[in-house]
Amino acid sequence: MELKGKKVLVVGLGKSGLAAALFLRHKGAQVTVSDIRSAESLAKEIPALLDEGIMVEAGGHGLLTFRRQDLIVVSPGVPLNTPELVQARNFGRPVIGELELAARFLKGKILAITGSNGKTTTTALAGEILKEAGYPTLVAGNIGVPVVGVIEESTDDTWSVLEVSSFQLESTEEFHPRIAVILNITPDHLDRHGTFENYALAKERIFAVQDTSDSVVLNADNPRTAEAEARSHAPVYWFSAKHEVSRGAWAQNGTVVYRSAPGAGPEAAIETILPLAKISLKGEHNVENVLAAVCAARLAGVAPSVIARAIEKFHAVEHRLEYVATVNGVEFYNDSKATNVDATAKAVASFPGGIHLILGGKDKGSDYSTLSPLLHERVRAVYTIGAAAAKIESHLRGVAQIHSCETLAKAVSAATAAARPGDVVLLAPACSSFDQFENYEQRGRVFKQLVAEQKDWKAKQDA
Ligand code: ADP
Repeated sequence: MELKGKKVLVVGLGKSGLAAALFLRHKGAQVTVSDIRSAESLAKEIPALLDEGIMVEAGGHGLLTFRRQDLIVVSPGVPLNTPELVQARNFGRPVIGELELAARFLKGKILAITGSNGKTTTTALAGEILKEAGYPTLVAGNIGVPVVGVIEESTDDTWSVLEVSSFQLESTEEFHPRIAVILNITPDHLDRHGTFENYALAKERIFAVQDTSDSVVLNADNPRTAEAEARSHAPVYWFSAKHEVSRGAWAQNGTVVYRSAPGAGPEAAIETILPLAKISLKGEHNVENVLAAVCAARLAGVAPSVIARAIEKFHAVEHRLEYVATVNGVEFYNDSKATNVDATAKAVASFPGGIHLILGGKDKGSDYSTLSPLLHERVRAVYTIGAAAAKIESHLRGVAQIHSCETLAKAVSAATAAARPGDVVLLAPACSSFDQFENYEQRGRVFKQLVAEQKDWKAKQDA
């Protein structure tokens, strides 16, 4: 792909838009960036872009800006049905995403991981395993490092372990992972994809251009994921936390095992990877993540003992069912990244009971009533916050005691006051954070700060 002298527009100035603009400029393109945010709110980014000779259009998209281009690169946060993009496509302008742009230049092999939940955890773990094996490894994508930003570091020997989201996959054409993993497909982002099926099909684009020399790793326990087998061109390997699989990884008798081929011959021997007890991550969902990483790592040729070593060393990624503190015998867990109903269900299922659950934030068109049986069984009380509070309360009425708290601060103090020794206060809000916070990271940090204040207060009382 020749970029020198080409007119390229980057739409959306997030982390990956910024990285894409700089990459394109360094390749000699004439780059313009367009973002609907005002020039004031982009005050940090604009000078750096202008210094590089990149033009900036802030505070809206001009239709002419979109027509004049040889190529348009869209950030994952910008919906593909944005009117200016639709019109540009109608004018024959090629529109691709940052991931697709990167895929055209990235050298070496790609291990790509998608799913509704568990992507970051599994990507980080798979990256650690490949590094432990001594492979030249790059970890990038949705995990916070734009893929275009690591292109220069990639060589023909590199394994790039990439976390990819449905938003990124939606606009791929040539993206071609050697190993493609779909962890699970459960309802999320329906506000953007419209229907569950559209969302599922966006995820399936991860293996769209694979061939029989590649591999696909699928979750045998998740119905919509397992169904993807029908459309895969590459051989499918399975993982399951519940039962044996024909080939792939599963848990049996408290042990993670792997088999590379079905049948009874020597090539179908069952390999022991490690005891489940050696996994520090909480919850069955994390067993699934470990199994997926094991499967991908074996397919990449990593030895079982090396895989085991890397898993034993691995701890929860921040904001993913992260242990915060114990105050007065009450454990506090930060799962701010539980931004959809399934992740919240998995978090609640990780504790036997006595849970004080903080729910709420910005609704994504979710159905919270699916949480009812689990909440009824394990949750002492729900504390609602943010814009989605009224909807959550109406979906969960009668299921558990509900306290309307509005803010996270009030929720933490109400939950702390109500919790008894042995209980758990869990932030797993099932919503995104943008109504009250910058992002889920800030929400998680605020939660941890509030817990620290409770701890200090308790220490003063005791003194
Ligand atoms: P993603 O990158 O897909 O958002 P994370 O690893 O950041 O995934 O985890 C997101 C949320 O989902 C966290 O709340 C985490 O506890 C939960 N989670 C992690 N793995 C799984 C899984 N396999 N199934 C369901 N929920 C999960």
